Amino acid sequence: MSAPATKRMRIAYGRIAQETHALSPVPTTTEDFRRAIFMEGDELARAASKDGEEAPGFMKNAELSGFVRAAHAARQRGLEVETVPTLSAWAIPGGPLPRDTFDELLSRLLSRLRDAGPVDGTFLSLHGALGVVGLRDPESLILEAVKEATGGKPVTVTQDFHANLTERRVRAAEAIVAYRTNPHRDHAKVGFEAGEILIRTIANQVKPVSAWRSLPMLLGGGTTLDFLPPFLQTFLRMRSMRRDPRVLATSVYGCHLWNDDPDLGWSAHVVTDGDRDLAERLADELAERLWAMRHQMPPRFPPIEEAIVEARKARIARKLGVVAFADASDVVSAGAPGENTRILEALLKDGRDLVSYVPLRDPEVVAKLWDVAVGETVRVEVGGKLDPKTNEPLAVEGRLLRTQRMLGLGRLAVLDLGPVKLVLTELAAFSVKPAFYQDVGLPILKADVVVVKNYFPFRLFYLPYARKTIYVKTRGLTDFDAAYVLNFADPMHPRDHVEDWRPADRRRRGV
Ligand SMILES: [Zn+2]
Repeated sequence: MSAPATKRMRIAYGRIAQETHALSPVPTTTEDFRRAIFMEGDELARAASKDGEEAPGFMKNAELSGFVRAAHAARQRGLEVETVPTLSAWAIPGGPLPRDTFDELLSRLLSRLRDAGPVDGTFLSLHGALGVVGLRDPESLILEAVKEATGGKPVTVTQDFHANLTERRVRAAEAIVAYRTNPHRDHAKVGFEAGEILIRTIANQVKPVSAWRSLPMLLGGGTTLDFLPPFLQTFLRMRSMRRDPRVLATSVYGCHLWNDDPDLGWSAHVVTDGDRDLAERLADELAERLWAMRHQMPPRFPPIEEAIVEARKARIARKLGVVAFADASDVVSAGAPGENTRILEALLKDGRDLVSYVPLRDPEVVAKLWDVAVGETVRVEVGGKLDPKTNEPLAVEGRLLRTQRMLGLGRLAVLDLGPVKLVLTELAAFSVKPAFYQDVGLPILKADVVVVKNYFPFRLFYLPYARKTIYVKTRGLTDFDAAYVLNFADPMHPRDHVEDWRPADRRRRGV
């Protein structure tokens, strides 16, 4: 006999999320969460509502508003769903969290849950590549703690495409749903889906069962963009899998390379409604598809000297728009500090015929320039302070163009170094949007070259401007091979020769 339908339910929702770079020496503290996204209770409820802004300065709607929308949709179907906001803490990528930062975030989430009274389930937005000093797999700990605090009630979770999946997470959550876009733009959609699964689970309409596979694999899949082969075909196949009403969720993960879990790797995960065999079969098929992509390496990135020559040659691109340099070795959105000076140095030396805009993080110099009069000439050493092992400081001289504050970035100072305009930031600057430059008085179309510390998302925002994009390898924390120094429990493709993914998978899943 099937369980009776439940029509009334209370569901808590919240987030603790960050993509952590295990090799960054710059810790991510509670202050970093507070400066980015930190909301609780009613404030969170407003932010996740239809007219609210869930991540001000970053995006309007994300996973939690997706979940709130799923609750709204369920009400239209006659269910009484009450949503209970807890905590949303979301920091810009950076180095590992000190243990006390993690403990503080988790205990705030748990105390909000306890204060909420009995709930029938919890919706959580996690990144899946969170790193905490001295703690393995912190997200599993969050899941297990939430489960314990709610008396074992169902939990569904969203994760980034760059998450690492583990046996503990799969066991603790009723369902996990990952972004199926890269660059990521379906946060709200996957929030809605994971929310629906949770509501239907509580209402006894579905019984989620999971199957998953973990591959000892760090790289592959070419560009890993969702709209290009080989990932395109995999995402299309996943869509066709979900047309089967027994299939509740399908996810694949390309993992965050610089996560120090010894069982790191690409993975596949399928949730079905009570059909274990089907889940196993589909998860296996997805794993084979990922493994088949392993030899398609990411494109080679040229050094800055080569990139400058190319930009100089790209006359038409510069005339109609700009050439974008992505500093692939210092990607802030993957946890690098954003203070690598090699592009700046090369542009000042060899690129003086090009007008270029460069971002650089240097809280010390920004503080120093804050009280200097605009128009004055200053001589400062910039960059190379937060991670001096990887980055070197550079002496520059120029005129102070302006100082100002920007949402999410703190204080900024703009220096005129002749053809190079340098935007110094107090905090790690994504610099993904043209507004980063426009808002400090640097019109994009006046430049030949703009530099971003980002891999993919900027390409969407720069569509109207960038006529050519060059990924530049400058030696830094987000070089792919930088991850090869991490310790892995299994031989890892492509660092090591791996004949067969299944032995590592079986060990990781404990079968
Ligand atoms: Zn990601």
